[in-house]
Amino acid sequence: MAKKQFKAESKRLLDLMIHSIYTHKEIFLRELISNASDAIDKLYYRSLTENNTGLSREDFEIRLDINSEERILTISDNGIGMTREELESNLGTIARSGSLAFKKEKEAKDEIDIIGQFGVGFYSSFMVSSNVTVISKAYGEEQAYMWESTGSDGYTLTECDKPNYGTEIILKIKENHEDENYDEFLQEYKIRGLVKKYSDYIRYPIKMNTQQRKLKEGTEDEYETVIEDQTLNSMVPIWRKNKNEISTEEYHHFYQEKFYDFSDPAKVIHTNVEGVSTYNALLYIPGKAPYNYYTKEYEKGLQLYSSGVLIMDKCADLLPDYFSFVKGLVDSQDLSLNISREMLQHDRQLKAIASRLEKKIKSELLEMQKTEREKYEDFFKNFGLQLKYGLYDRFGANKEMLQDLVLFYSSTENKPVTLSEYVSRMKLDQKYIYYACGDSVERIERLPQTEMLKDKGFEILYFTDDIDEFAIRMLHEFDGKEFRSVSSDDLGFEESETDKEAARKEAEDYQDMFAFMKETLGDKVSEVRLSQRLKTHPVCLASSGGLSIEMEKILNAMPN
Ligand code: ADP
Ligand code: MG
Repeated sequence: MAKKQFKAESKRLLDLMIHSIYTHKEIFLRELISNASDAIDKLYYRSLTENNTGLSREDFEIRLDINSEERILTISDNGIGMTREELESNLGTIARSGSLAFKKEKEAKDEIDIIGQFGVGFYSSFMVSSNVTVISKAYGEEQAYMWESTGSDGYTLTECDKPNYGTEIILKIKENHEDENYDEFLQEYKIRGLVKKYSDYIRYPIKMNTQQRKLKEGTEDEYETVIEDQTLNSMVPIWRKNKNEISTEEYHHFYQEKFYDFSDPAKVIHTNVEGVSTYNALLYIPGKAPYNYYTKEYEKGLQLYSSGVLIMDKCADLLPDYFSFVKGLVDSQDLSLNISREMLQHDRQLKAIASRLEKKIKSELLEMQKTEREKYEDFFKNFGLQLKYGLYDRFGANKEMLQDLVLFYSSTENKPVTLSEYVSRMKLDQKYIYYACGDSVERIERLPQTEMLKDKGFEILYFTDDIDEFAIRMLHEFDGKEFRSVSSDDLGFEESETDKEAARKEAEDYQDMFAFMKETLGDKVSEVRLSQRLKTHPVCLASSGGLSIEMEKILNAMPN
């Protein structure tokens, strides 16, 4: 039978994977087990929503089988299975994401990124196998099919016999080669260890026939080796466990595997709440902003489980936009399985959970700000912009939630500071919180308008993001102190009568020159007048009215 070819890009991606990702080759098992678990989830979900399947939870299992003589490792499940078409489209091409993976390939510093991020999990089996056979029968179908491939040279697809629905993945494990050890994937203890390490929380039993030393029946000191089915995983989902039973490593593994990130999260938030609404939540703040975070493609949301069964992959209603960077899941027994998206939007339980999560996220961030400042500044580099958008959004209605979380660069501290830190340092005669806008800290440093304030020893916040001034205007004030741009007319100084008089006199003396300047500049300026603000610079530009020069610039640059 003629072999079908993989799509070209799949082929190159396969080569890349097989030949360059040695260090992490053990993750193939995790990938295949999680596929099996997904397949069972799909069937289990069906059994819960349709009444006539006759299936119950106890029926489901994932099995591992080692045949070391034949060098074969089998992973089987009694999940939903695949039809002929599904085998072809799911395993014959690296789905749409494959082409994306390929475009990104050059940018990916660490090749390992490719596996999880772009859903090519199944292909990782070729890292350890010289041949992969998939036998599958879709639930409710009569005919089973066999898919077979030795890697990048294509695959065959034929009819075959299989008594029950589900999928069997048969790996012919490679021979040891130089310093590459493959034999270990045929060793019971190694497989057992890998299941514990990566797949312990899988909610269906992962069973294997294992050799066990047992006390011989009827004796007290005679042992015998028996072969017995053993469940290798503890099955309790990680979020249902006690916090003190979970290591940081486990939390991170779970995060990386579930949310396709290969860097560690910046923060893990795990809460178990009982009361009016009962739920477990496991949330993560990523260590890096996803590459598409500040684009329209990025989709916010938490996974939503009802008593351990996944009912929605990205429940957007659980997260406000300003915390859209949070990844994670919520498991609640108070939600119905059959609940639809539309119903969820109006669900009171869900709203209550969302509002508690929001408060929790805020308090965890504040804690980080207090106790792990550097980490917080890193976090803010990644997601601070989103928080500032949040301040601006809804005409400042999120003020209470966000005002303590934002940081701005300070002229006196030479680093980002919080607003309350600023206020705590304000001088007795200082009326306002001063800020200056510009493209960069360096450029703001050179602004003529900042000179006098600096001379007087006042701290100035530097606004370098377009959104900053807009956001702060929505805040209006912080802790009773109003914000003032360094370019504004009134900086709140008490001027003595003699100073005022001197200024008036000076303005009068130069009246003719100002008139001449105005005439020469024409429409480019609305007024030329004397400023008491300047020290070493001869002139500065300022705006009158509600908008600052910077805001005008930004608004003018926006497409209509
Ligand atoms: P992902 O799991 O990220 O979708 P994979 O490469 O791991 O990507 O799997 C590709 C697809 O193949 C899955 O989405 C699923 O539809 C199908 N698949 C893989 N393994 C199984 C299985 N054991 N049972 C049913 N379908 C499977
Ligand atoms: Mg997968």
